Amino acid sequence: MNASTLFIGGTWTGASDAGTRDIHCPADGELVGTVAEGTADDAGRAVLAARSAFDAGEWSGKSPLERGSFLLKVAARLRERKDEFARAETLDTGKRLVESEIDMDDIANCFEYFGKLAGQESGRLVDAGSPMVVSRIEYEPVGVCSLIAPWNYPLLQAAWKIAPALAAGCSFVLKPSELTPHTSILMMEVLQELGLPDGVANLVLGDGKTVGSVLSSHPDVDLVSFTGGLETGKVIAASAAASVKKVALELGGKNPNIVFADADFDAALDNALNAAFVHSGQVCSAGARLIVEESIAEKFVDELVRRAGQIRLGGPFDADAETGPLISAAHRDKVTAYVDKGVAEGARLRCGGAWGTGDLEKGFYYLPTVLDQVTSGMSVLVDEAFGPVVTVETFTSEAEAVKLGNDTHYGLAGAVWSQDAGKSQRVARALRHGTIWINDFHPYLPQAEWGGFGQSGVGRELGPTGLAEYQEAKHVYQNIDPQVTGWFADHAAAPAGGN
Ligand code: NAD
Repeated sequence: MNASTLFIGGTWTGASDAGTRDIHCPADGELVGTVAEGTADDAGRAVLAARSAFDAGEWSGKSPLERGSFLLKVAARLRERKDEFARAETLDTGKRLVESEIDMDDIANCFEYFGKLAGQESGRLVDAGSPMVVSRIEYEPVGVCSLIAPWNYPLLQAAWKIAPALAAGCSFVLKPSELTPHTSILMMEVLQELGLPDGVANLVLGDGKTVGSVLSSHPDVDLVSFTGGLETGKVIAASAAASVKKVALELGGKNPNIVFADADFDAALDNALNAAFVHSGQVCSAGARLIVEESIAEKFVDELVRRAGQIRLGGPFDADAETGPLISAAHRDKVTAYVDKGVAEGARLRCGGAWGTGDLEKGFYYLPTVLDQVTSGMSVLVDEAFGPVVTVETFTSEAEAVKLGNDTHYGLAGAVWSQDAGKSQRVARALRHGTIWINDFHPYLPQAEWGGFGQSGVGRELGPTGLAEYQEAKHVYQNIDPQVTGWFADHAAAPAGGN
């Protein structure tokens, strides 16, 4: 069967070599569906379709207000089809249905935010210092965008790119993770159904090395926006550099969760569990490094271990389950090796460190894991586990807390827990991360920029800067009273007053 799940130039099509891929639910291994496995050729065709749609101007030439009102319709349609989308996301990722439902609400909110923002950013006038000059800045679409997304929040991460790209007037080719294609297919259905001109939105499914590398190197692509791992981000940045494409990179994190002794103990503990174990830690901003003040560390960590040991694992439709499986066998092997290496390097395993047993053996479950007695430089402190693993460090002063919080080559997010508002603000200011939560963990807002310092990435998604990523600023300078400058004399002209 040649599954027609690629969307190129407004047409649903199979892969050029008729290749397919089976998608299995990571919670129980059940077959979810069979989709087309795109080829390099398919990726190239999709880029050309996006290019010709962009150049034709049917979308890129629309007014920002018209584009904005289209995005608002997308948001409304996503709300109507929320259940179907949430179910598809859950089957691909294995995450709890309620989590997918929250994601779908967030996606609709994102389209709504950029829909409203689209019409507000119509350029600005610049004072050129003369009444005879009109000087203005226009924001134009950057052009053809490759949007490459990961598997942990498949449609949410894609929406953070699709919504501003469309708001700006760009055309795009989307490549979701090969593991989680179904909600991207549904999204293309919605865009088509609502009348987006052919070729503006294209979808090519397939793996990174085949499809992704074409999308990051093709000469007709103007911008590559990528969310995924650090090593892939480096490959993409290098590939895009050959033709000086713009790049937006949302990479990993090794995020500190700093708890002072004067914090609200119960709230900090509850949120430390959320920070580390929501979606089994497969969250770029997971609070994977608990950094706790020494005077409360023993009590806090004992409680954390006790509570982590109680977390109920289970499939997406199991009403008792509090978190789900890892995405794949390969990823579980990676998390396993990471914890084992940490222990070999001297970390102490306080709980977890093993696969789920019994019914859980059908899926890729890994038990919530706490490691303490970790020291700077250990691989468990340096690398991203991207699983349900939290390490514990302790501090005795505010300065030491900040130093530990910044002891990472990443810089995505972090949290400070304290009832001292001044101390919290000082520490928030000193931390070199793109988002800092004070007395909270994980919330983000579509109107607030998201992205990383250091090797967590380049650029920002969401907020006005998230739209600007998809725009080029053009300066148009009009002299309404042109004069001869006389800079270069006309040496052949007859001298003034001569015969
Ligand atoms: P990944 O880097 O393995 O893959 C991400 C995407 O890149 C996939 O679509 C994949 O097919 C594609 N890809 C792989 N190799 C490629 C290549 N050579 N050229 C082009 N594309 C290629 O990441 P993942 O395992 O899917 O996702 C987990 C990672 O994503 C974690 O590191 C996590 O921190 C990060 N992430 C970051 C954010 C953020 O906002 N900063 C959000 C979610 C996930």
